[in-house]
Amino acid sequence: MKWYQMNADEVEQKLYVTTKHGLAGKQADERLKQYGPNRLESEKSVSKWLIFLKQFQDFMVLILLAATLIAGLLGEYVDAIAIMVIVLVNGFLGYFQEQKAEKSLTKLKEMSAPSAQVLRDGKWEKVPSQEIVVGDVVRINSGDRVPADIRIVQANSLETEESALTGESLPVQKHAASIDKDKLDAQDQVNMGFMNTMVTRGSGVGIVVGTGMDTVMGQIASLMVKTEKTTTPLEHKLAELGKVLISVALVLTALVVLVGVYQGHAVYNMFLAGVSLAVAAIPEGLPAIVTVALSLGVQRMIRKNAVVRKLSAVETLGCASVICSDKTGTMTENQMTVKEVFLNGKMLYVTGDGYDINGDYFWNKENVGNTFPNLEKMLLYGMLCNNASLIVKKGKYAVDGDPTDGALLVAARKLGLQRKLHDNYRIIKEFPFDSERKRMSVVIEDENNMRFLITKGAPEVLLPRSAYMMKEDGRTLLNSGDESHIHDTIDNMADKALRTLAIGMKPLKKNDSLESAVLEKDLTFIGLYGMMDPPRKDVKKAIAECRAAGIKSVMITGDHEKTARAIATELDLLPENGMVLDGYQLNKMSVTELEDIIDQVYVFARVTPEHKLKIVNAFQEKGHIVAMTGDGVNDAPAIKASDIGISMGESGTDVTKEASSLVLMDDNFATIKSAIIEGRNIYENIRKFIRYLLASNVGEILVMLFAMLLAMPLPLVPVQILWVNLVTDGLPAMALGLDQSEDDVMKRGPRNPKEGVFARELGFKIISRGILIGAATLVAFMLAYQGNPDNLVYGQTIAFTTLVMAQLIHVFDCRSEHSIFKRNPFENKYLVLAVLSSVALLAVVIYWEPLQPVFHTTALGIRDWMFILGMSALPSILFGFTKK
Ligand code: ATP
Repeated sequence: MKWYQMNADEVEQKLYVTTKHGLAGKQADERLKQYGPNRLESEKSVSKWLIFLKQFQDFMVLILLAATLIAGLLGEYVDAIAIMVIVLVNGFLGYFQEQKAEKSLTKLKEMSAPSAQVLRDGKWEKVPSQEIVVGDVVRINSGDRVPADIRIVQANSLETEESALTGESLPVQKHAASIDKDKLDAQDQVNMGFMNTMVTRGSGVGIVVGTGMDTVMGQIASLMVKTEKTTTPLEHKLAELGKVLISVALVLTALVVLVGVYQGHAVYNMFLAGVSLAVAAIPEGLPAIVTVALSLGVQRMIRKNAVVRKLSAVETLGCASVICSDKTGTMTENQMTVKEVFLNGKMLYVTGDGYDINGDYFWNKENVGNTFPNLEKMLLYGMLCNNASLIVKKGKYAVDGDPTDGALLVAARKLGLQRKLHDNYRIIKEFPFDSERKRMSVVIEDENNMRFLITKGAPEVLLPRSAYMMKEDGRTLLNSGDESHIHDTIDNMADKALRTLAIGMKPLKKNDSLESAVLEKDLTFIGLYGMMDPPRKDVKKAIAECRAAGIKSVMITGDHEKTARAIATELDLLPENGMVLDGYQLNKMSVTELEDIIDQVYVFARVTPEHKLKIVNAFQEKGHIVAMTGDGVNDAPAIKASDIGISMGESGTDVTKEASSLVLMDDNFATIKSAIIEGRNIYENIRKFIRYLLASNVGEILVMLFAMLLAMPLPLVPVQILWVNLVTDGLPAMALGLDQSEDDVMKRGPRNPKEGVFARELGFKIISRGILIGAATLVAFMLAYQGNPDNLVYGQTIAFTTLVMAQLIHVFDCRSEHSIFKRNPFENKYLVLAVLSSVALLAVVIYWEPLQPVFHTTALGIRDWMFILGMSALPSILFGFTKK
């Protein structure tokens, strides 16, 4: 017998579990051990050896190794061994960098791993989907991925989208009843939920019958080819640039070699020097450092509660010019409290804050409590048409589920009403809330088998569906006077930034149809709730900071226009001439009409997720780079279409998380701002080390080229050049990747996403510093050498030291877009450490006698150092004054 043929009881018996209690924790642990984690087997990771060997596959490095081998054969043992060691150490460094990047990427993947709601020991808990075992009872809601193959035992308007399995993109309605047929295909097993398919509507409960590779998806996954690694736009641009740089470096080094040979240098010497120079000048490490910088930045972001799902988002973040953010939960606390209740045509005020269950109902300054007609009924209904539960967390009341629902439970509790005291009300059918319908309904049967419907939702949605109104002395027809009174009350509540919710009911007969279209009309309007949801503390400041950084913040909400306007004003988001548009106006506009005014719009109210896509498109058409937040399953298309899709770590659904490139662990708007700062900073840091590395390379090549043109001996020997490449170019460049941001990162406008690598004078800075570093080194060499062959080693040591020191001073210049004097050089302690260790290593090769013949160096005196420091500081200091 197949799972879909069994009824719920049979499945329970077969798997030793009950849907009331779920598995015991211990039982689940044992099954997990026995059957392994619930995941699809991913591709095998590349072996460490291969990654290590990959470091040497670079063409120039291979030539260098060949040249070294020849040097060794010719008896130049010292040079050969020295070069080998340097190349090997370089390979190790590259290997470690790559490992580090790989590790942090894996960690990221783990962080964004999905979780599922599971019933264990009678309690619902959230566990990582990987830990789900056969027999687990799981709950699924719209927006979730089904965590494993499940036999559905409870379905409320449940629909799933199974195109990944069946190719069918229309959602499939799911039921709980067993199917009395044999040999059904997956798409016909409508009482089963399949791993990784998406819940598009409703909710349900199921028992897990297959996990991991033992699922329908697992069978397919075993056939699938491995996924490709994607590169970010910047990595791509740099790879392209790298090709150009390689050609330039090769041409120039070839020139050095040719001129050198022409000037009478030994071919063998020039060849080794040329290859070393090429190895040094080709920035082969650049892409790896970029990846490391990106992933280190990503780790910093995690500490600030922003988890990046796509590395490319880090770059795009720095270009964001508009942030479209949900109001509820992202700009506000999402801790709703009912503050006002409108009932029997009268206004009641409710005391108490947050989810604290202490509070009273006042009418005309009188504590009315249970005595106010219909109040208990309204609160009871609010509690029945509800999906949340009140729990105690750390000694305080908290809500498990939708905060709007939670607020109703707290409001009911203030009158002593509790769900468990009303167990005699059975829910026959539920139409869950979604932002599209803006309402939720339940059909209830009471102890006398009488049925009735309760509907709650946005007042504008409920009122047109109401024909009656509940008053003190019973039900009356809803007349226009009542309606305008209700509308005034809604406006009044909304002006005070309260979220409005209406509630209504309808008596039913036993055989009435249970279709929502038939049910949810001719309602009896009962009353309104006015709920407060205070803005988050740090959001106002974050909006102001974004404005200073040239980024516009836009509020998008399903709430009433006036509620949205009131909160936007409180947050200083809406300028005096700023516009508020609502969903109704949006519907009437074409995208072009919207484009014309969108720069003036700051708030979109009463919108549905569909509108979000239109908003994103209009902003993008205007040339904006848009960050868009979302939580529900219907938000996914807009999130995908935006440049930076942002989902909510706490309240978001799996589907939006998967569509997004950034997850806010705390759902907080202010976190987007922190992520943008970090995004801008990472990009600036990448610019910093590109500038540093390339200027150094320009310097190195120029010294050699001009020395050859001027018929001088080699100012730097091959080992020295390779040492510079390893030590001076390596550590400080990495430290630049960890640099703090400049004070004004959030005072500049967003970066143009189309700007090239050398934009904003970076090209000029590289060439100008490069030329001066080269010139300083060459002049230092000439002054020390003075044409006397006896001075050669001394001259080379001076040139080598000047080059190294010039670069180590220049690294501080690279930290600022403005001038070396702008920043405190000791701020970045990694950089100070990197520079100090480079200086220490320099001292070792100059002063430690055994290494002197290896590196062709000789000890230097104090006067030499004064001279070297003067020469090497010159390039950075000179430009410090021009601020160019
Ligand atoms: P956003 O998170 O985009 O700011 P929102 O929370 O403001 O969205 P929705 O959740 O779409 O907007 O809610 C829109 C309206 O639907 C609310 O103003 C309220 O009247 C009603 N509503 C919200 N939650 C529920 C619920 N659980 N049951 C019934 N109606 C609800």
